[in-house]
Amino acid sequence: MIAFDNTEIAFKDRDAKNLKKAYWLFRLVGSPVLVKAGSLLLKLALWLRIPVKWALKPTVYNHFCGGGTISACNETIHRLGQSNVLTILDYSAERKEIEADFDYTKRQILDTIDKACSEPFIPNAVFKPTGLSRFDLLEKVQSGRQLPEGEQKEFDRVKARFDEICAYGASKGVPVMIDSEESWIQGMVDALVEDLMFRYNTEKPIVFNTLQMYRHDRLHYLQNFIERARQRGIFPAFKLVRGAYMEKERARARKMGYPSPIYPDKASTDQAFDEATALVLANVKHVAVCIGTHNELSCTNAVDIMNSLSLPNDHPNISFAQLLGMSDHISYNLAAAGYQVCKYVPYGPVKTVVPYLIRRAEENTSVAGQTSRELFLIKKEIQRRRG
Ligand SMILES: Cc1cc2nc3c(=O)[nH]c(=O)nc-3n(C[C@H](O)[C@H](O)[C@H](O)COP(=O)(O)OP(=O)(O)OC[C@H]3O[C@@H](n4cnc5c(N)ncnc54)[C@H](O)[C@@H]3O)c2cc1C
Repeated sequence: MIAFDNTEIAFKDRDAKNLKKAYWLFRLVGSPVLVKAGSLLLKLALWLRIPVKWALKPTVYNHFCGGGTISACNETIHRLGQSNVLTILDYSAERKEIEADFDYTKRQILDTIDKACSEPFIPNAVFKPTGLSRFDLLEKVQSGRQLPEGEQKEFDRVKARFDEICAYGASKGVPVMIDSEESWIQGMVDALVEDLMFRYNTEKPIVFNTLQMYRHDRLHYLQNFIERARQRGIFPAFKLVRGAYMEKERARARKMGYPSPIYPDKASTDQAFDEATALVLANVKHVAVCIGTHNELSCTNAVDIMNSLSLPNDHPNISFAQLLGMSDHISYNLAAAGYQVCKYVPYGPVKTVVPYLIRRAEENTSVAGQTSRELFLIKKEIQRRRG
């Protein structure tokens, strides 16, 4: 049984000043009014090209991000590493529109693979599909519409970027996780990722797809894919998450008049997450899994299943992941108990990371109990240190 409320372990690398800063930050993001107003102001400031770095860098940016460049993340990587928490460098580019940006992002991901080769605290790389492709293009391909020649060539370049990254990861033995996005492009992403898995996961898990368990078709997809992978003799790999776009998914389904792909309530999503965890752990000899969640019960459930199957805590095919700046009580306590734990460490220039930061602030406001849990634990640790 892991004691997730051991705050001495959870905050051991935060000094008093840092802890207080985190406390005030979570108090601020805990206010829906402030977050809404702040996000609007931020979007406006960016649109008007008003500098925002001075306000963001010492506050939310430093809390949720590793730095502007890969080497600027060294301090974070080693700070986490001292507590056996590993780093997944996450170049936070999303919703870009031009080829030069996509190529630049691809270069960054390749550099994170190189960094993983020279840094024992980095187990794998990650990328977000919309960092390498126009969203509208993926949507168009998924919808089955005919692409004009120019867009067909553009799509071929997207596939080549995905392939180059995964081929490089495979050649260096560095797994690559691919984030999941909205359902109206995810079908296309799944098709690309499946193809890459069949190509590069022949010896061991290299390419990871991400499954959003708030979607009611994902358990079936997972069962089906594990079976297909078994028949083809490859090692499938999945990051399990609940999913970040619930409101957007439901709103689009309502507007366009199709059934929502999302479970009707949180309990069903939770159950699907637990069932998916049980399924991958039961197949863990051939399937790799990263359990990406800030939910204590989901982590406890995974730990219990691992125990019941007599799987070692440091099983090479099992990892847990949280985002930098969130749920340290889960990451640090799991790592102290010998589990493989990673933090997504976003990096990039402040302006590039703004959409990510806005989502983090909104998530901390909308996820019931998340912020109050963080605040409760920080307060507990401050009091513990006072004696
Ligand atoms: C390491 C890591 C990587 C991630 N990568 C991705 C990614 O690639 N793609 C992505 O989309 N997200 C990603 N996320 C975000 C993730 O999907 C969740 O939004 C976030 O982690 C909150 O879920 P939870 O399991 O941590 O916590 P919880 O607080 O237990 O769950 C909140 C989540 O439950 C679901 N939910 C809430 N209310 C309802 C409801 N009424 N009905 C149905 N479902 C509901 C929603 O998914 C919501 O986000 C990632 C998260 C982590 C930690």
